[in-house]
Amino acid sequence: MKLHVVSHPLVDDVLSSLRDARTPSTEFRRLAHRVSLLVTAEATRDLPTAPGEIETPLETTAVRRLSRRVVAVPVLRAGLGMLDAFLELVPSAQVGYFGLERNEQTAVARRYYEKVPKDLEDAVVYLLDPMLATGGSAAMAIEGLQDLGACHVRLLCVVAAPEGVAWLETAAPEAEVYTAALDRELNHRKYILPGLGDFGDRLFGT
Ligand code: URA
Repeated sequence: MKLHVVSHPLVDDVLSSLRDARTPSTEFRRLAHRVSLLVTAEATRDLPTAPGEIETPLETTAVRRLSRRVVAVPVLRAGLGMLDAFLELVPSAQVGYFGLERNEQTAVARRYYEKVPKDLEDAVVYLLDPMLATGGSAAMAIEGLQDLGACHVRLLCVVAAPEGVAWLETAAPEAEVYTAALDRELNHRKYILPGLGDFGDRLFGT
């Protein structure tokens, strides 16, 4: 499994505010959008383009447009915080949804909702899930996408834990992971340290 940690001073800067426990939800949403733009830009760097031609106001010129089908699948609910940024950069993307819920006691994920475009074989599928903690829910979502035919799955996250990365290395070796940060470890409640807390709670103010 390929792990890409996005290295950019703007990523460092936005993470410093995202991690800050004093950052209110309204600001957290804006920051989540900003960091997602940066991760998306990195994770789409190698998408193929095809040549075309357009008329500028002055002359005809050669252009290149995305030539690959792209599907974004946010994992409910925290993944919603990354979707607008993804669509801002890839407006032609189709969108699917996975509903996964982590049991607070066992940290084991359960799939409760799924609505994903069909025939994913030819698409690059971007799974949006900001916190890669144990890797259990990410592995479940990747497996679900592969069952629907997806051959190229990329997980976009904001913070990843080494435990989650190690889990995906065995559970989903063909997937790629793009993250803004690779943190130290999980605590006993399976939260990422130093992390930023519960992404969904901070995003939605719950
Ligand atoms: N999910 C979160 O929102 N935060 C963590 O630290 C781990 C999982």
